[in-house]
Amino acid sequence: VRFHASIILIFGLVSGALFGDAKKGNDLQTIPSASKLASRTLLSEKAYCNLASLCDDVGNRLSGSENYNRAVVWALKTMKDAGLQNVHTEKVMVPRWVRNRESAHLISPCNHELSMLGLGMSVPTPKGGITADVLVVSSLDELASMKDEEVKGRIVLFEFPFESYGQGSRIRFAGPSAAAKKGAVAMIMRSVTHLSLDTPHTGSLGYKAGIAKIPAAAVSVENAAMMRRMWEKRQKIQVHLEMSCETLPDVESANVIGELKGSENPGEIILVSGHLDSWDVGQGAQDDGVGCVLALQAVQMIKEEGLKPARTIRVVFFANEENGTRGGEAYLNAHGNELKDHIVAIESDAGNGLASGFSLEILPKEKNTPEMIKTHRVLENIKPILEPLGAAKFSPGFAGVDIEPIVKAGVPGLGMKHDTTHYWEVHHSKADTFEKIKKDDLAKNAAILAVTVYSLANSSLKISN
Ligand SMILES: [Zn+2]
Repeated sequence: VRFHASIILIFGLVSGALFGDAKKGNDLQTIPSASKLASRTLLSEKAYCNLASLCDDVGNRLSGSENYNRAVVWALKTMKDAGLQNVHTEKVMVPRWVRNRESAHLISPCNHELSMLGLGMSVPTPKGGITADVLVVSSLDELASMKDEEVKGRIVLFEFPFESYGQGSRIRFAGPSAAAKKGAVAMIMRSVTHLSLDTPHTGSLGYKAGIAKIPAAAVSVENAAMMRRMWEKRQKIQVHLEMSCETLPDVESANVIGELKGSENPGEIILVSGHLDSWDVGQGAQDDGVGCVLALQAVQMIKEEGLKPARTIRVVFFANEENGTRGGEAYLNAHGNELKDHIVAIESDAGNGLASGFSLEILPKEKNTPEMIKTHRVLENIKPILEPLGAAKFSPGFAGVDIEPIVKAGVPGLGMKHDTTHYWEVHHSKADTFEKIKKDDLAKNAAILAVTVYSLANSSLKISN
């Protein structure tokens, strides 16, 4: 009931904005159709049904896995069924990391099975595992300030207050080599989240060349906090860690691409994307099933409404965002010669929280001013439609991991700014599952993306030079 009431309210506001607004430029000609597109998308359940199918019929899908291959088959069929044109795959060579069996046990000062997940790309422990005393630190700086002999032979535990995802992911990425450099035998860390129900959260580590590779894992917030309390009581903390993960040779994988051809300027491209791969636990519902179904829904609704955008809209489901970012690099390599025709690249990769607008990333920075102004002008023109949807905030910021290579090559990037209040709670964990998806939020996010994509595809302004 609440959902339908909000739709009626939004439709009213959109209409009000439409008729109450004086003409500011050519782009406003698209407002009546964009406004109808928004209200029709709000009522559609397609994105929700597609996400249910991706989660339940395919499941989690780490790059290089059998499930990722099934996800590619699913994506090709789903794009074709949605009426997209030129549906195809593009080759990406990806790492193949397999988790296998893993466990961690506290053996002193008491026996306790730890809730753990090995970090992606970790090396295994020796057969039979590692047993060592635990050293607790709260940051990379604190570890750097310690003498090697304090660290040598220990398992380093990073236990830190969650300040931001960036802070936690830096520890996850750099922590193993920082610990190994000082002679640690393994690294464990507090999961990167602010709220936990004893759920460990994985993510990629990054070994530094020339430094011994040591096994690394995340433990739940509860387990890390418990070991911190033991540390403060000066108790002897000993952990037994056993991991049998493997890094196999790279395998062939794919980005999946489909288009809606432009009616006037088919050579000019609006790219809209998410990443198809996920971690190997949970269902990858929010990370990043949502990004994929939103991109697809935007284009499908434009097509079904009989709208004929001037420019081509290209939907890209990227491979390997999670443990290699090879999908974005492969796209750059395959399409480097047509980047000047990419008007803008959009990515949604921050879950299903309601979007408040878009982060704009335009590089290199010295080119910022004129293009940023032009991008802003295009977005200003669609504000009357985005405002009632609560999504008219635009600010400079990171646009997305997968589009980063083409953004660095000069394509203006737009990252959908989702509310991440509850995102980190499930992110990269077994808890990233479909039933947590709020249907009305997904529909609203789809409407926001659909009108943005449609308006950019019709805008009279060309952003890049
Ligand atoms: Zn993601």
